[in-house]
Amino acid sequence: MSEHHVNPSAGDDHLEVDPYLASQARRETNARSYPRRIPIAIAKARGVEVTDTQGKTYLDCLAGAGALPLGHNHPVAVEAIRRALDEEVPFTTLDLTTPTKERFVDELFASLPASFQSGRIQFCGPSGADAVEASIKLAKTATGRTGVVAFSGAYHGMTQGTLALTSARGSKAQLGALQPDVHHLPFPMAYRCPFGLGGDASGVAASNLFASMLSDDHAGFTLPAAVIMEPVQGEGGVHPAPQGFARRVAMSTAAHGVPLIFDEVQTGLGRTGSLWAFEQLGVEPDILVLSKAIGGGLPVAVVVYKDEPEGWGPGSHAGTFRGNQLGLAVGAATIAFVRDNDLAGHARVMGERLMDGATLATKGIDQIGEVRGRGLMVGIEIVDPDHVDVNGVPSPDGTRARRIQAEMLQRGVICEVGGRGGAVVRFLPPLIIDAEGIDRVLTVFDDAVRAS
Ligand code: PMP
Repeated sequence: MSEHHVNPSAGDDHLEVDPYLASQARRETNARSYPRRIPIAIAKARGVEVTDTQGKTYLDCLAGAGALPLGHNHPVAVEAIRRALDEEVPFTTLDLTTPTKERFVDELFASLPASFQSGRIQFCGPSGADAVEASIKLAKTATGRTGVVAFSGAYHGMTQGTLALTSARGSKAQLGALQPDVHHLPFPMAYRCPFGLGGDASGVAASNLFASMLSDDHAGFTLPAAVIMEPVQGEGGVHPAPQGFARRVAMSTAAHGVPLIFDEVQTGLGRTGSLWAFEQLGVEPDILVLSKAIGGGLPVAVVVYKDEPEGWGPGSHAGTFRGNQLGLAVGAATIAFVRDNDLAGHARVMGERLMDGATLATKGIDQIGEVRGRGLMVGIEIVDPDHVDVNGVPSPDGTRARRIQAEMLQRGVICEVGGRGGAVVRFLPPLIIDAEGIDRVLTVFDDAVRAS
């Protein structure tokens, strides 16, 4: 058992060392993604740590891409599964109801603002993408319109419909002729501002543009069936929506009778420092899409909406695996635990410690473009100070970001890269991470930056 069985900068050399990785590379398709940047085979996991098949332990700042708010094998989650098995709950029930499902709905609604209490919930196939698909169908049925407005930098999934909403060109290339009536408007970015303005001015310009595109009868597209937005864009590189921008978007959509969908698949259940990210924006969506954390690590995805929309008939969004009872049992227990122990507040404090620490540690390092985020959804943009983009901002340096990720992995911290040019080092640790864990991440990040 070697501590250094993986040389992260050695391409596929490690495959010769770990038989699981070699087997995976041989048998899974070329489309596999995370194993290329995180070449480990995981044997077991507990809390914020995972241990690979070689016996090396890592602090997990990826945590199932944000799907494990309580970390791995948390006693609350394990107990919920044990209890469900003891009660002989059926594993899956389509959308037939059970006491377990009832408990999940109770906990979820108890965690949502008052305005949702008379709302409805739709159980979807167990992925964020399927729930996004459902939300779009719902809005189209309710409005009788077809188009959708999304934002540059958006990520909503990898099905054909959600790829149309997702912004990354590399992924969209697989869409071809299936691209439906979707229009992307600019999302504000204070650092890499698409208007060449920066700071608060980016949000103001994006708000103005959004409002005028919705009201302009010569905008170039018909009034959409929905506007879909992530309150904090995740895969696009961790870009929080400024409050003023979100409010203006909500005002415009309301004025034009366009349902506003918030995709909180990644931001939901405490991740950003409040139970729901929209609470920090002072606006509420008409339709809310949730997955990842609400299943506590098991697959659950739902759409919640405030009013029963017109024309959403029986069977409008069917699917076999909409009733994973173990997922609903763990989800109910996780939602209650996050809410009752104010893990959102904890995430806010820990996130500030991470962002403040990273800002301080990298002060004066030209390759650090920006440290940003909300709660425990943090991104650090790596740039090449010798080259600038069209707006005169240092260019994203994805190569260096990948090197930092690899150096961190070697030092025992798993993180992810994403955003423009893959240049944003991303952190999505379990919400239970403590100050000691954050400080360990900071030390490793600092060392990795200097070594990269
Ligand atoms: N929406 C957002 C905001 C996401 O972050 C993701 C997943 N990263 C999805 C949708 C898609 O979820 P899934 O991968 O479960 O389909």
